[in-house]
Amino acid sequence: MDISFAIPECRVARFVEQHEDHLIIPVRLDAASGRCPECGQASRSVHSRYHRQPADLPVSASQTRLRIEVRRFYCLNPTCRRRTFAETPMTFLAPRARRTRRLGEVQARVGLACGGAGGARLLTHLHMPASRATVLRLVTRMPMPDAPAPIRVGIDDWAIRKGSRYGTIVVDLDRHRVIDLLPDRTAPTVAGWLEQHSGVELVARDRSTEYARGASLGAPQAQQVADRWHLLTNMRQAVERWLHGAHARLRSLPLLPGSTVRPARRDRAFARSLSELEAGAQSRMRWQVVYDEVRRRHAGGEPLLAIARALGLARATVRKYASAETFPTRLPHGAGPSLLDPHGAYLAGRIDEGCENAMALWREIREQGYPGTSRQVHRFVAERRTRPVRSGRKPRSAKASASEPLGSEAPLPPARQLAWLLVQPTSVLDESEAAVVSRVEQDDTARAVTGLARRFTALVRAAGKGKPVADD
Ligand SMILES: [Zn+2]
Repeated sequence: MDISFAIPECRVARFVEQHEDHLIIPVRLDAASGRCPECGQASRSVHSRYHRQPADLPVSASQTRLRIEVRRFYCLNPTCRRRTFAETPMTFLAPRARRTRRLGEVQARVGLACGGAGGARLLTHLHMPASRATVLRLVTRMPMPDAPAPIRVGIDDWAIRKGSRYGTIVVDLDRHRVIDLLPDRTAPTVAGWLEQHSGVELVARDRSTEYARGASLGAPQAQQVADRWHLLTNMRQAVERWLHGAHARLRSLPLLPGSTVRPARRDRAFARSLSELEAGAQSRMRWQVVYDEVRRRHAGGEPLLAIARALGLARATVRKYASAETFPTRLPHGAGPSLLDPHGAYLAGRIDEGCENAMALWREIREQGYPGTSRQVHRFVAERRTRPVRSGRKPRSAKASASEPLGSEAPLPPARQLAWLLVQPTSVLDESEAAVVSRVEQDDTARAVTGLARRFTALVRAAGKGKPVADD
């Protein structure tokens, strides 16, 4: 079989060998001499020969390998450090590669279209097999298409591991594409990236000092702007910080007459056990101590970051405590539906009849289909018990008083939720949300805060749409 192949830099040396499932094409490199990579001098003096057998594009529906005879030459330059060298470079074959570049490119294209596993399956049918891992490796080694130099970029942090490791994402704002991921969010990293992209004219960023510094260092020519999302988020956070301090005062405001209030979340099906209450109280006491310490240091002028480090607290916690005039108490969580709910009436009736034996009651409702454990029944009975228990546990009244809600205040959403409501345009609030806002706005400061917040939101949103800002 004698075929003339177009194999760059080579000529076919002998007959093509036909094996059971593949062809081997013996080729020899065209050049008559080699050139020493060290000193550049040509040599025709052959030291030895060896063979390389890279896979190549299929021929005539057969897998194909080249058998390349590679010569090793003597370097005849007496001043050169090298004694021998192999002929290189071969542009169609990388050093030590097991496939020609043109085969690798085709396999990568298939991988790009079909993915690793699908590509590997298809390539078998096309007589250029490669494993799934190889296909993926070839795809990742493909050169990136040349992208136009970015002019306006947005930078923001992204979590590599939420809460512990953060990187920086760089977005081309004109093409709406992610163009790079940086390994951290420090000023030097951002500055280094910007220095390599000197055409950047605008950097949109959050308001962190690191990004500001990085942009100033790396792209002093560029204009820096805060992006809309961060502006609105910062504003809402400011409102939330203010609310932490004012929440207790706002909670004491009465509901406006005639306002509709969404039915409050169902109260806890039954009160918490004494040990749960004690644990909760202890936790509150610990946090109260932490709160006092944060307030003391903050009043003394210590920076928030230093306080966070000294006390081992999250910065957000320190900021919250530093701005709260009173210890921000958490509202009790509303309980979800209980398995016991459908049987509550029956149990209450039985207790009224005088049966306070929890195990007996549990067996009774189990007969009726209650799937839960006896523990919940025990607690249910304990809260409604009229007679002291033999084991000498405290009677119900002591526990009940501990779980009473504070005073007669109507519930107010926690600061974070309330901040959301207060910065929304009033037109998007439903009736009960509007009632909450009206209640809060009886307070003069609150009214001023919400007024400013709404105007700011409208301003930022309108700026984004290119519309004039209505001043209402
Ligand atoms: Zn040499």
